[in-house]
Amino acid sequence: MKLYPIEAGNFKLDGGAMFGVVPKSIWQKTNPADQNNQIPLATRCLLIENGDQLILIDTGMGNKQSEKFYGYYHLWGDFSLLSSLKKAGFHPDDITDVFLTHLHFDHCGGAIITNNNGSLQPLFKNAKYWSNQAHWQWAIAPNPREKASFLKENILPIEESGQLHLIDPVKGSFIENTALNFGVTFVNGHTDKQMLPHIQYKDKVIVFVADLLPTVGHIPLPYVMSYDIRPLVTVDEKKEFLEKAADQNWYLFLEHDAHHEIITVKRTDRGIRLHETYTCNEIFN
Ligand SMILES: [Zn+2]
Repeated sequence: MKLYPIEAGNFKLDGGAMFGVVPKSIWQKTNPADQNNQIPLATRCLLIENGDQLILIDTGMGNKQSEKFYGYYHLWGDFSLLSSLKKAGFHPDDITDVFLTHLHFDHCGGAIITNNNGSLQPLFKNAKYWSNQAHWQWAIAPNPREKASFLKENILPIEESGQLHLIDPVKGSFIENTALNFGVTFVNGHTDKQMLPHIQYKDKVIVFVADLLPTVGHIPLPYVMSYDIRPLVTVDEKKEFLEKAADQNWYLFLEHDAHHEIITVKRTDRGIRLHETYTCNEIFN
């Protein structure tokens, strides 16, 4: 198995919204804000090459939205999904599976493109696109609070293309996904049935933590995004997850942290805290 980070482009979000009830005087120490009160974020996806399979986890926000739309998110830096795939040595047609942790635009927007005649189609035309039954239903009939994140142009064309594959309704909070050869934790605080892949890589377990833990600054339990639909559920899920991560020495792959790629955590008398920080290069080579 080989792993590659795929940087799909950086953006910014309101720092206050990213930290919920935590005051700026505190969060700005780990996540300094710019003059617009926004903090820098990444959309770091993960590519897994395993035998015949080439699995992309999340896709960033893509490039089909209007200038006005992207203006809200202050894109920065030179990364793009296509150039990062190319740098790793791959073409979109090579991808066999696209696993979407959830269907918010900054995770799935890159999966669908606008072609020359203006119609929407999957960028990865040979891939199975993976979501799950409960999250799919949640996303196609969005509540008013998440409506701005579930954009129908990112979601409906997946089904129309015939490439959508849904993981069955889930009873527990963890499954072994035998089709993709990794485990999946399901969490419900950020959105309904977000999926976090657990990848066994050599002697390490690497967990793609997506929006359960957007940045290192979100490790303390009450540091929960205002975007989360069920913040107290996130607190419980984060506690259980981070304790396991500390005890089992999981390597946490951070999708949104612009400055930390992979971390480990440890128990302290103040709760779980950051242990070590690694680049993908250090862990994947
Ligand atoms: Zn999200």
